[in-house]
Amino acid sequence: MSFENPNFSLSAHVAKLNDRFQSTDTVDMLRSLIADSSFGQLALVSSFGADSVVLLDMIAKIDRALPILFIDTEMLFHQTLTYQQKLAEDLGLADLRRISPVREAVLERDSENLLHRYDTDACCALRKTEPLARALIGFNGWISGRKRYQGGARSNMELFEIDVENRIKINPLAHWSREDLAKYIATNNLPRHPLHAKGYKSIGCAPCTTPTGTISDERAGRWHGQRKTECGIHFGQVRPSSVIVTDEGFADEDWSGEFVNFDDLTKNTFQDTPALAVDLNGDFETKKLVPWIAQIDLIRVDFPVFSDGRGFSLGNQLRALGFVGRLRAKGHVLADQYAMARRSGFDEVEIDRTLARRQPEPVWQARANWQVRDYQNRLRNSA
Ligand code: SF4
Repeated sequence: MSFENPNFSLSAHVAKLNDRFQSTDTVDMLRSLIADSSFGQLALVSSFGADSVVLLDMIAKIDRALPILFIDTEMLFHQTLTYQQKLAEDLGLADLRRISPVREAVLERDSENLLHRYDTDACCALRKTEPLARALIGFNGWISGRKRYQGGARSNMELFEIDVENRIKINPLAHWSREDLAKYIATNNLPRHPLHAKGYKSIGCAPCTTPTGTISDERAGRWHGQRKTECGIHFGQVRPSSVIVTDEGFADEDWSGEFVNFDDLTKNTFQDTPALAVDLNGDFETKKLVPWIAQIDLIRVDFPVFSDGRGFSLGNQLRALGFVGRLRAKGHVLADQYAMARRSGFDEVEIDRTLARRQPEPVWQARANWQVRDYQNRLRNSA
Protein backbone atom coordinates (compact mmCIF):
# COMPACT_ATOMS: atom_id res chain seq x y z
CA MET A 1 0.00 0.00 0.00
CA SER A 2 1.39 3.39 -0.91
CA PHE A 3 -0.61 6.50 -0.12
CA GLU A 4 1.76 8.43 -2.40
CA ASN A 5 1.12 6.23 -5.48
CA PRO A 6 -1.06 8.32 -7.83
CA ASN A 7 -2.99 5.18 -8.84
CA PHE A 8 -3.76 4.33 -5.24
CA SER A 9 -7.45 4.64 -4.34
CA LEU A 10 -8.08 5.15 -0.64
CA SER A 11 -11.76 4.26 -0.91
CA ALA A 12 -10.94 0.95 -2.66
CA HIS A 13 -8.33 0.25 -0.01
CA VAL A 14 -10.80 0.95 2.81
CA ALA A 15 -13.42 -1.30 1.18
CA LYS A 16 -10.86 -4.12 1.00
CA LEU A 17 -9.93 -3.67 4.65
CA ASN A 18 -13.58 -3.85 5.68
CA ASP A 19 -13.94 -7.10 3.74
CA ARG A 20 -10.74 -8.58 5.03
CA PHE A 21 -11.30 -7.90 8.73
CA GLN A 22 -15.08 -8.27 8.87
CA SER A 23 -14.99 -11.40 11.00
CA THR A 24 -11.57 -11.08 12.57
CA ASP A 25 -11.18 -10.99 16.33
CA THR A 26 -10.56 -7.37 17.45
CA VAL A 27 -7.19 -8.00 19.10
CA ASP A 28 -5.97 -10.06 16.14
CA MET A 29 -7.02 -7.29 13.76
CA LEU A 30 -5.20 -4.65 15.78
CA ARG A 31 -2.14 -6.86 16.00
CA SER A 32 -2.06 -7.32 12.21
CA LEU A 33 -2.49 -3.62 11.54
CA ILE A 34 0.17 -2.52 14.00
CA ALA A 35 2.67 -5.18 12.88
CA ASP A 36 2.21 -4.41 9.18
CA SER A 37 4.47 -1.49 8.35
CA SER A 38 2.67 -0.92 5.05
CA PHE A 39 -0.16 0.69 7.04
CA GLY A 40 2.21 3.52 7.85
CA GLN A 41 2.08 5.49 11.07
CA LEU A 42 -0.87 4.65 13.33
CA ALA A 43 -2.02 6.23 16.58
CA LEU A 44 -4.76 5.59 19.10
CA VAL A 45 -6.82 8.66 20.00
CA SER A 46 -8.18 8.23 23.51
CA SER A 47 -10.26 10.43 25.80
CA PHE A 48 -9.50 8.21 28.81
CA GLY A 49 -13.27 8.22 29.25
CA ALA A 50 -15.85 5.67 30.33
CA ASP A 51 -14.76 2.67 28.21
CA SER A 52 -11.37 3.85 26.93
CA VAL A 53 -9.57 1.32 29.07
CA VAL A 54 -10.60 -1.49 26.70
CA LEU A 55 -8.63 -0.24 23.69
CA LEU A 56 -5.82 1.10 25.85
CA ASP A 57 -5.38 -2.33 27.40
CA MET A 58 -5.41 -4.05 24.00
CA ILE A 59 -2.83 -1.65 22.59
CA ALA A 60 -0.63 -1.97 25.69
CA LYS A 61 -0.59 -5.74 25.22
CA ILE A 62 0.25 -5.48 21.51
CA ASP A 63 2.67 -2.56 21.36
CA ARG A 64 3.20 -0.19 24.28
CA ALA A 65 5.16 2.16 22.01
CA LEU A 66 2.19 2.97 19.77
CA PRO A 67 1.49 6.72 20.05
CA ILE A 68 -1.56 7.45 22.20
CA LEU A 69 -3.03 10.90 21.55
CA PHE A 70 -4.90 12.24 24.58
CA ILE A 71 -6.78 15.49 23.93
CA ASP A 72 -6.65 17.61 27.05
CA THR A 73 -9.18 20.34 26.31
CA GLU A 74 -8.25 21.98 29.64
CA MET A 75 -11.94 21.58 30.52
CA LEU A 76 -11.81 17.94 31.62
CA PHE A 77 -12.89 16.56 34.98
CA HIS A 78 -9.98 16.40 37.42
CA GLN A 79 -10.91 12.73 37.84
CA THR A 80 -10.12 12.18 34.15
CA LEU A 81 -6.64 13.66 34.53
CA THR A 82 -5.89 11.54 37.60
CA TYR A 83 -7.28 8.42 35.92
CA GLN A 84 -5.31 9.12 32.73
CA GLN A 85 -2.01 9.41 34.60
CA LYS A 86 -2.53 6.30 36.69
CA LEU A 87 -3.81 4.20 33.80
CA ALA A 88 -0.97 5.22 31.46
CA GLU A 89 1.50 4.31 34.18
CA ASP A 90 -0.17 1.00 35.07
CA LEU A 91 -0.41 -0.06 31.42
CA GLY A 92 3.13 1.11 30.70
CA LEU A 93 2.11 3.28 27.72
CA ALA A 94 5.43 4.49 26.39
CA ASP A 95 4.36 7.20 23.94
CA LEU A 96 1.50 9.12 25.47
CA ARG A 97 1.08 12.50 23.77
CA ARG A 98 -0.99 15.09 25.54
CA ILE A 99 -2.65 17.31 22.95
CA SER A 100 -3.70 20.78 24.11
CA PRO A 101 -5.23 23.81 22.42
CA VAL A 102 -2.83 26.52 21.28
CA ARG A 103 -2.40 29.06 24.11
CA GLU A 104 -2.59 32.14 21.87
CA ALA A 105 -5.76 30.80 20.24
CA VAL A 106 -7.39 30.24 23.64
CA LEU A 107 -6.44 33.75 24.76
CA GLU A 108 -7.87 35.20 21.58
CA ARG A 109 -11.04 33.11 21.28
CA ASP A 110 -11.89 31.96 24.81
CA SER A 111 -9.91 34.00 27.30
CA GLU A 112 -12.52 33.52 30.03
CA ASN A 113 -13.15 29.82 29.32
CA LEU A 114 -16.83 30.53 28.74
CA LEU A 115 -17.09 29.87 25.02
CA HIS A 116 -18.80 26.52 25.71
CA ARG A 117 -21.76 28.41 27.19
CA TYR A 118 -22.77 30.12 23.98
CA ASP A 119 -20.98 28.33 21.14
CA THR A 120 -20.13 24.69 21.76
CA ASP A 121 -19.12 24.14 18.12
CA ALA A 122 -16.56 26.94 18.28
CA CYS A 123 -15.32 25.68 21.65
CA CYS A 124 -14.92 22.09 20.40
CA ALA A 125 -13.13 23.41 17.31
CA LEU A 126 -10.70 25.40 19.44
CA ARG A 127 -10.11 22.78 22.09
CA LYS A 128 -10.59 19.46 20.29
CA THR A 129 -10.78 19.33 16.53
CA GLU A 130 -8.06 21.84 15.66
CA PRO A 131 -5.51 20.44 18.18
CA LEU A 132 -6.24 16.89 17.03
CA ALA A 133 -5.98 17.83 13.36
CA ARG A 134 -2.52 19.26 14.07
CA ALA A 135 -1.49 16.22 16.14
CA LEU A 136 -2.54 13.80 13.40
CA ILE A 137 -0.34 15.37 10.74
CA GLY A 138 2.08 12.68 9.62
CA PHE A 139 -0.14 9.76 10.67
CA ASN A 140 -1.67 7.48 8.03
CA GLY A 141 -4.39 6.17 10.29
CA TRP A 142 -5.91 6.58 13.74
CA ILE A 143 -7.85 4.26 15.98
CA SER A 144 -11.05 5.47 17.64
CA GLY A 145 -13.17 3.85 20.34
CA ARG A 146 -16.62 4.53 18.87
CA LYS A 147 -19.31 1.87 18.95
CA ARG A 148 -22.40 1.43 16.78
CA TYR A 149 -24.71 0.89 19.74
CA GLN A 150 -24.02 4.50 20.80
CA GLY A 151 -26.45 5.50 18.06
CA GLY A 152 -26.76 8.63 15.93
CA ALA A 153 -24.12 8.98 13.24
CA ARG A 154 -22.26 6.04 14.80
CA SER A 155 -25.03 3.49 14.09
CA ASN A 156 -23.81 2.63 10.60
CA MET A 157 -20.09 3.13 10.84
CA GLU A 158 -17.71 0.61 9.35
CA LEU A 159 -14.57 -0.86 10.87
CA PHE A 160 -12.52 1.26 8.47
CA GLU A 161 -13.45 4.68 7.16
CA ILE A 162 -11.76 7.43 5.22
CA ASP A 163 -10.88 10.16 7.65
CA VAL A 164 -9.36 12.81 5.40
CA GLU A 165 -7.35 12.55 2.22
CA ASN A 166 -4.50 10.10 2.81
CA ARG A 167 -5.68 8.97 6.23
CA ILE A 168 -7.96 6.21 7.48
CA LYS A 169 -9.90 5.91 10.69
CA ILE A 170 -10.16 2.52 12.35
CA ASN A 171 -13.10 1.69 14.60
CA PRO A 172 -12.12 -1.70 16.07
CA LEU A 173 -15.00 -1.66 18.58
CA ALA A 174 -17.66 -0.67 16.04
CA HIS A 175 -19.55 -3.95 16.52
CA TRP A 176 -19.01 -4.30 20.27
CA SER A 177 -22.00 -4.13 22.62
CA ARG A 178 -22.14 -2.54 26.04
CA GLU A 179 -22.08 -6.03 27.51
CA ASP A 180 -18.97 -6.97 25.48
CA LEU A 181 -17.14 -3.98 26.94
CA ALA A 182 -18.24 -4.76 30.49
CA LYS A 183 -17.16 -8.37 30.05
CA TYR A 184 -13.71 -7.42 28.71
CA ILE A 185 -13.20 -4.98 31.58
CA ALA A 186 -14.26 -7.55 34.18
CA THR A 187 -12.28 -10.44 32.66
CA ASN A 188 -9.12 -8.37 32.49
CA ASN A 189 -9.74 -6.78 35.88
CA LEU A 190 -9.36 -3.26 34.49
CA PRO A 191 -10.13 -0.04 36.38
CA ARG A 192 -13.04 2.04 35.12
CA HIS A 193 -13.11 5.82 35.08
CA PRO A 194 -14.18 6.79 38.65
CA LEU A 195 -17.17 8.80 37.37
CA HIS A 196 -18.65 5.76 35.62
CA ALA A 197 -19.92 4.44 38.94
CA LYS A 198 -21.63 7.81 39.51
CA GLY A 199 -23.82 7.46 36.43
CA TYR A 200 -21.54 9.04 33.82
CA LYS A 201 -21.74 6.61 30.90
CA SER A 202 -19.93 8.82 28.40
CA ILE A 203 -17.36 11.25 29.75
CA GLY A 204 -16.04 14.36 28.02
CA CYS A 205 -15.46 17.90 29.27
CA ALA A 206 -16.85 18.82 32.70
CA PRO A 207 -19.13 21.69 31.57
CA CYS A 208 -20.72 19.59 28.81
CA THR A 209 -21.17 16.22 30.52
CA THR A 210 -23.94 15.15 32.86
CA PRO A 211 -24.67 11.73 34.38
CA THR A 212 -27.25 9.64 32.55
CA GLY A 213 -27.90 7.05 35.26
CA THR A 214 -30.03 4.31 33.80
CA ILE A 215 -30.99 6.02 30.52
CA SER A 216 -30.16 3.62 27.70
CA ASP A 217 -28.73 6.34 25.42
CA GLU A 218 -25.36 6.67 27.12
CA ARG A 219 -24.39 9.74 25.11
CA ALA A 220 -27.50 11.60 26.31
CA GLY A 221 -25.31 13.17 28.96
CA ARG A 222 -23.12 14.92 26.41
CA TRP A 223 -24.20 18.49 25.54
CA HIS A 224 -27.47 17.73 27.34
CA GLY A 225 -30.39 19.79 26.01
CA GLN A 226 -28.61 20.65 22.75
CA ARG A 227 -28.91 19.11 19.30
CA LYS A 228 -25.15 18.61 19.26
CA THR A 229 -24.11 14.97 19.62
CA GLU A 230 -20.49 14.96 18.43
CA CYS A 231 -17.55 17.24 19.09
CA GLY A 232 -16.51 17.25 15.45
CA ILE A 233 -13.36 15.13 15.50
CA HIS A 234 -15.27 12.38 13.69
CA PHE A 235 -16.50 14.59 10.87
CA GLY A 236 -13.35 14.25 8.81
CA GLN A 237 -11.93 17.52 7.57
CA VAL A 238 -11.98 20.11 10.29
CA ARG A 239 -14.20 23.06 9.51
CA PRO A 240 -12.17 26.22 9.03
CA SER A 241 -12.32 28.50 12.05
CA SER A 242 -13.16 31.51 9.85
CA VAL A 243 -16.15 32.50 7.77
CA ILE A 244 -15.83 34.51 4.57
CA VAL A 245 -18.58 37.11 4.13
CA THR A 246 -19.44 38.42 0.66
CA ASP A 247 -22.54 39.99 -0.88
CA GLU A 248 -23.74 36.39 -1.41
CA GLY A 249 -23.61 35.55 2.31
CA PHE A 250 -21.39 33.23 4.36
CA ALA A 251 -18.94 30.72 2.87
CA ASP A 252 -16.02 28.61 4.06
CA GLU A 253 -12.49 29.66 3.21
CA ASP A 254 -11.74 28.85 -0.44
CA TRP A 255 -8.11 30.02 -0.48
CA SER A 256 -5.96 26.92 -0.07
CA GLY A 257 -2.54 28.54 -0.34
CA GLU A 258 -0.63 30.22 2.43
CA PHE A 259 -0.52 33.93 3.22
CA VAL A 260 2.88 35.60 3.32
CA ASN A 261 3.77 38.85 5.06
CA PHE A 262 5.57 41.79 3.51
CA ASP A 263 8.98 40.71 4.83
CA ASP A 264 8.56 37.31 3.12
CA LEU A 265 7.58 39.12 -0.03
CA THR A 266 10.81 41.09 -0.10
CA LYS A 267 12.98 38.05 0.58
CA ASN A 268 11.55 35.60 -1.95
CA THR A 269 10.76 35.75 -5.64
CA PHE A 270 7.61 33.56 -5.53
CA GLN A 271 8.20 32.87 -9.22
CA ASP A 272 6.89 29.31 -8.88
CA THR A 273 3.97 30.27 -6.68
CA PRO A 274 0.78 29.79 -8.73
CA ALA A 275 -1.20 32.21 -6.59
CA LEU A 276 0.15 34.77 -4.17
CA ALA A 277 -1.65 36.01 -1.06
CA VAL A 278 -0.25 38.68 1.25
CA ASP A 279 -1.15 39.75 4.79
CA LEU A 280 -0.87 43.46 5.59
CA ASN A 281 -1.44 45.54 8.72
CA GLY A 282 -3.72 48.56 8.55
CA ASP A 283 -0.79 50.98 8.91
CA PHE A 284 1.15 49.54 5.96
CA GLU A 285 2.72 52.07 3.59
CA THR A 286 1.15 51.16 0.25
CA LYS A 287 3.90 52.55 -1.97
CA LYS A 288 6.26 49.82 -0.71
CA LEU A 289 4.05 47.29 -2.48
CA VAL A 290 4.43 48.80 -5.96
CA PRO A 291 7.04 46.28 -7.29
CA TRP A 292 4.74 43.35 -6.47
CA ILE A 293 1.26 44.79 -6.94
CA ALA A 294 0.61 43.12 -10.30
CA GLN A 295 1.78 39.73 -9.04
CA ILE A 296 -0.47 39.52 -5.98
CA ASP A 297 -3.78 37.67 -6.22
CA LEU A 298 -5.18 38.33 -2.77
CA ILE A 299 -4.40 40.92 -0.10
CA ARG A 300 -5.74 40.43 3.38
CA VAL A 301 -5.77 43.48 5.63
CA ASP A 302 -5.85 42.99 9.39
CA PHE A 303 -8.46 44.82 11.46
CA PRO A 304 -7.16 44.29 15.02
CA VAL A 305 -10.05 46.05 16.81
CA PHE A 306 -13.51 47.19 15.72
CA SER A 307 -12.67 50.87 16.25
CA ASP A 308 -9.53 50.83 14.08
CA GLY A 309 -10.47 52.35 10.72
CA ARG A 310 -6.98 52.38 9.20
CA GLY A 311 -7.77 49.23 7.24
CA PHE A 312 -10.52 51.03 5.33
CA SER A 313 -8.07 53.75 4.25
CA LEU A 314 -5.56 51.10 3.23
CA GLY A 315 -8.21 49.39 1.09
CA ASN A 316 -8.88 52.67 -0.74
CA GLN A 317 -5.15 53.27 -1.22
CA LEU A 318 -4.53 49.78 -2.59
CA ARG A 319 -7.27 50.22 -5.16
CA ALA A 320 -5.93 53.67 -6.05
CA LEU A 321 -2.52 52.08 -6.52
CA GLY A 322 -4.02 49.78 -9.15
CA PHE A 323 -4.51 46.56 -7.19
CA VAL A 324 -7.18 44.53 -9.03
CA GLY A 325 -7.00 41.23 -7.15
CA ARG A 326 -9.11 40.05 -4.24
CA LEU A 327 -9.09 42.37 -1.28
CA ARG A 328 -10.14 40.98 2.07
CA ALA A 329 -10.71 42.63 5.46
CA LYS A 330 -9.87 40.23 8.26
CA GLY A 331 -10.65 40.26 11.94
CA HIS A 332 -12.70 42.72 13.92
CA VAL A 333 -15.20 43.95 11.40
CA LEU A 334 -18.89 44.18 12.30
CA ALA A 335 -21.88 43.75 10.01
CA ASP A 336 -22.52 47.49 10.37
CA GLN A 337 -19.07 48.12 8.87
CA TYR A 338 -19.62 45.83 5.87
CA ALA A 339 -20.90 48.61 3.58
CA MET A 340 -17.90 50.76 4.54
CA ALA A 341 -15.56 47.85 3.75
CA ARG A 342 -17.17 47.35 0.34
CA ARG A 343 -17.02 51.05 -0.45
CA SER A 344 -13.32 51.02 0.53
CA GLY A 345 -12.60 48.46 -2.18
CA PHE A 346 -12.81 45.26 -0.15
CA ASP A 347 -14.45 42.27 -1.85
CA GLU A 348 -14.97 40.24 1.27
CA VAL A 349 -14.62 40.10 5.03
CA GLU A 350 -13.10 37.26 7.05
CA ILE A 351 -14.52 36.84 10.55
CA ASP A 352 -14.12 34.05 13.09
CA ARG A 353 -16.96 31.67 13.83
CA THR A 354 -17.59 33.18 17.24
CA LEU A 355 -18.42 36.53 15.69
CA ALA A 356 -20.38 34.74 12.96
CA ARG A 357 -22.57 33.19 15.66
CA ARG A 358 -23.16 36.53 17.33
CA GLN A 359 -23.86 38.23 14.01
CA PRO A 360 -25.33 35.48 11.81
CA GLU A 361 -25.63 35.52 8.03
CA PRO A 362 -29.02 37.39 7.82
CA VAL A 363 -27.53 40.30 9.80
CA TRP A 364 -24.73 40.63 7.24
CA GLN A 365 -26.99 40.06 4.28
CA ALA A 366 -29.14 42.97 5.39
CA ARG A 367 -26.04 45.06 4.57
CA ALA A 368 -25.20 43.19 1.36
CA ASN A 369 -27.20 45.64 -0.70
CA TRP A 370 -24.61 48.22 0.28
CA GLN A 371 -24.69 50.14 -3.01
CA VAL A 372 -28.24 51.32 -2.33
CA ARG A 373 -26.97 53.10 0.75
CA ASP A 374 -23.91 54.43 -1.01
CA TYR A 375 -24.13 58.22 -0.90
CA GLN A 376 -22.29 58.79 -4.19
CA ASN A 377 -24.33 56.10 -5.88
CA ARG A 378 -27.57 57.75 -4.74
CA LEU A 379 -26.35 61.09 -6.10
CA ARG A 380 -25.44 59.49 -9.44
CA ASN A 381 -28.84 57.82 -9.68
CA SER A 382 -30.71 61.02 -8.91
CA ALA A 383 -28.73 63.08 -11.43
FE1 SF4 B 1 -15.79 23.02 24.90
FE2 SF4 B 1 -17.74 21.48 25.84
FE3 SF4 B 1 -16.56 20.92 23.49
FE4 SF4 B 1 -15.26 20.58 25.78
S1 SF4 B 1 -17.09 19.48 25.06
S2 SF4 B 1 -14.43 21.49 23.98
S3 SF4 B 1 -16.01 22.35 26.99
S4 SF4 B 1 -17.85 22.71 24.02
